[in-house]
Amino acid sequence: MDLLIAEDDRTQRRMLTHVLERMGHGVVAVSDGCAAWEILSGLAAPRMAILDWMMPGLEGPEICRRVRALETTDPPYLVLLTARDDEESVVEGLELGADDYLTKPFNVNELRARLGVAERTLALQSRLNRVTRALSREAARDSLTGLYNRRTILRLLGREMEAGSPTAASFSVGLADIDHFKRVNDAGGHQVGDDVLRRVARVMADALGEDDILGRYGGEEFLIIARGSVGIFEEMRRLVSQRPLPTRGAPQRVTISIGVAGCKDHASVDALMGCADAALYAAKRAGRDRVIVYAADDCPGTSPGAASPREGR
Ligand code: GH3
Ligand code: MG
Ligand code: MG
Ligand code: MG
Repeated sequence: MDLLIAEDDRTQRRMLTHVLERMGHGVVAVSDGCAAWEILSGLAAPRMAILDWMMPGLEGPEICRRVRALETTDPPYLVLLTARDDEESVVEGLELGADDYLTKPFNVNELRARLGVAERTLALQSRLNRVTRALSREAARDSLTGLYNRRTILRLLGREMEAGSPTAASFSVGLADIDHFKRVNDAGGHQVGDDVLRRVARVMADALGEDDILGRYGGEEFLIIARGSVGIFEEMRRLVSQRPLPTRGAPQRVTISIGVAGCKDHASVDALMGCADAALYAAKRAGRDRVIVYAADDCPGTSPGAASPREGR
């Protein structure tokens, strides 16, 4: 493990460095608090630091306080080193963010034992970070298609809509729905239906431009946030219907309908989605396998409930 030692007393610093290096640690040693802070706040900060309490520049407790104020998922393990061993100092040091406390003159066995605790704590923290990252990745995705799930795609859409977003003026959303998908399930079974969903997702994903976003909105419905030309929706429709999609059963030919609305015409995610939804219903009514783009004027009341009576979608 790489360690930082900050200690202004030369003899103490050398002794500590020597002992820690003999234990197999990589040591960076500095003699004042400012140098220690610079290293700990830098990009390649070591995972553990032993900080003297009294030093020129910044004192150990102040460094602890500053380090704890940094936003990071990998905070270093901090040990304060001091001649003070009164209870109040211990409490103060720990409250300011130190993980542990060593009194001078240090005892080698105690130092070794405390480093063992540090390593266990840091290993636990790394594991927790890995698990958290994996879970949040999983929580953002739809398990069948691997696309963003409904919650994530709506959150991303909300962010795009936020006033002040630099790209807010220039995107459209498409709500795509597989036509007569129930028939695929009914004829081939749900596993074949699942294969079709995966294939359609992949075809649509392959058609995306660099800044476009695709998610699974629900069952056989997908949401596309397109920053480029609305031509992308027609291209997606064409690619999906172009050839039968391989499945574990017979290849399936499916088509999709897409309703499109432009963000500029709407003040909220709700209104925008309502308009895309109304355009999608219009595409279904007009015979499916088509893209219909709605401007605000085309949108009945711009509320999702305002469209004419709905058929299954
Ligand atoms: P329309 O052209 O009007 O959209 O007709 P449709 O049959 O596609 O619409 P409907 O809403 O009647 O049926 C959608 C079907 O999608 C019903 C549901 O069982 C199926 N479905 C939803 N999610 C999944 C899924 O994850 N896997 C499978 N296999 N089927 C799904
Ligand atoms: Mg000192
Ligand atoms: Mg459908
Ligand atoms: Mg549907």
